[in-house]
Amino acid sequence: MANFQVTGSLVWYYQICPRETWFLARQLVADQDDENVDYGRFLQEKVYQRDKKDVTIGHLKVDVMKSKGGQLVIGEVKKSSASEDSARLQLLFYLNELQEMGVTAKGELLFPEERKKEQVILDEEGKKKIEELKEKIKKVVSSELPPPPRKVRWCKNCAYREMCWA
Ligand code: SF4
Repeated sequence: MANFQVTGSLVWYYQICPRETWFLARQLVADQDDENVDYGRFLQEKVYQRDKKDVTIGHLKVDVMKSKGGQLVIGEVKKSSASEDSARLQLLFYLNELQEMGVTAKGELLFPEERKKEQVILDEEGKKKIEELKEKIKKVVSSELPPPPRKVRWCKNCAYREMCWA
């Protein structure tokens, strides 16, 4: 894990389940036939066709990138707002990393099924939160073993569920 870098997906998954974060960081491949994985792909590929999608900037992979009134806007697409706080942190992470690269951007959380959109701005409090979160994720990922499974409401839809509860 010498070259390990925290990514937006890991920020998202850490809020859901630190064990899942460990699996992902170790590149244990999730069940690619899982219907949630398929649906996520569908949302990213079809819903925001006019904007640039799946843009890679260094270690960042953002869902949507567009310009609005001369301002760079990074969009994060989610199926539902049930984990809105995790999605907001993921987006703050992107904005923070971009700022460290000298790029100022605003964020938009997009919930197409709910026709909902939320603006996200990186402020000092957000920056502090993200730096603390990055340290926590690095600590979990650098452990030799994953954290033990802990039932959370997301387990039933988790692509790693067989590795925890089979
Ligand atoms: S099944 Fe539950 S405990 Fe296991 S990795 Fe997924 S969310 Fe975490």
